[in-house]
Amino acid sequence: MRFVTFKHNRQTYWGIEEEEGIYYSAKLVSVFPTLLSMIENSSGIDFFKEINQFIQHSEAKILAPFIPRKNIMCIGKNYRDHALEMTGNDEGQVPKSPVIFTKSPSAVIGPNEAIDAHEMETGQLDYEGELAVIIGKRGKNISREDALDYVFGYTIFNDVTARDLQKKHQQFFRGKSLDTFGPFGPSVLTKDEVKDPQSLSIQTFVNGELRQSSNTAHMIFPIDQLIETLSDGMTLEPGDVIATGTPSGVGKGFNPPKFLKSGDRVRIEIDEIGVLENDVV
Ligand code: MG
Repeated sequence: MRFVTFKHNRQTYWGIEEEEGIYYSAKLVSVFPTLLSMIENSSGIDFFKEINQFIQHSEAKILAPFIPRKNIMCIGKNYRDHALEMTGNDEGQVPKSPVIFTKSPSAVIGPNEAIDAHEMETGQLDYEGELAVIIGKRGKNISREDALDYVFGYTIFNDVTARDLQKKHQQFFRGKSLDTFGPFGPSVLTKDEVKDPQSLSIQTFVNGELRQSSNTAHMIFPIDQLIETLSDGMTLEPGDVIATGTPSGVGKGFNPPKFLKSGDRVRIEIDEIGVLENDVV
């Protein structure tokens, strides 16, 4: 199933997206008002019996799937070619354990919402196309073998970054968390519909120019290993979001760098999962 959150007549609903439109239930939404609350309560409820309303795509404005309750867990340098482009080809900087930082949920925006260029705060605005994992089940000390059982589904994340702030403050939090720095969505595809999350082509375009082109097969630490590591002594909960890292081709990786500016349009495509587009204003 492909879940979306959408606005119609000033009301927000979540529903199931199909080719012909979106199926939803206002009654279900009155009980579980957000897609996050549905994910948190999804076990043991037969949603399908309730879903009896339909809306055309043209009548629905798609929003971010949900606003996470906790910081988004982000993985740094999880593609070898990106680790090298960020460190002047220093092999010693390719991580031996996952690099983990977090981003404020207040940064999250939906598809087609504007990324603020923050010209007062940064001169080095950058994009990072990433596959995002949505946790569906509470768990701690999860083994790699069981890890994918804890996944609800997948979506797309743009880990927008102010490179100068990322460097200046040493820890990444501020440079990653300015308002609008978390484009997320547009839909959450449940794991049963993704044949192999480690075999998805991932591409990022800026104004139509291909900047990033890779495959999730090239993650240094695959999703099951990330879940094993993150859940080691720390409980993962339904609705937790893991942004799995970006391949090479970020703006900073070019010589000279190709940072984002007002007027740019960023498009991230991941096989099967979808397309996430946002303008910089
Ligand atoms: Mg990133």
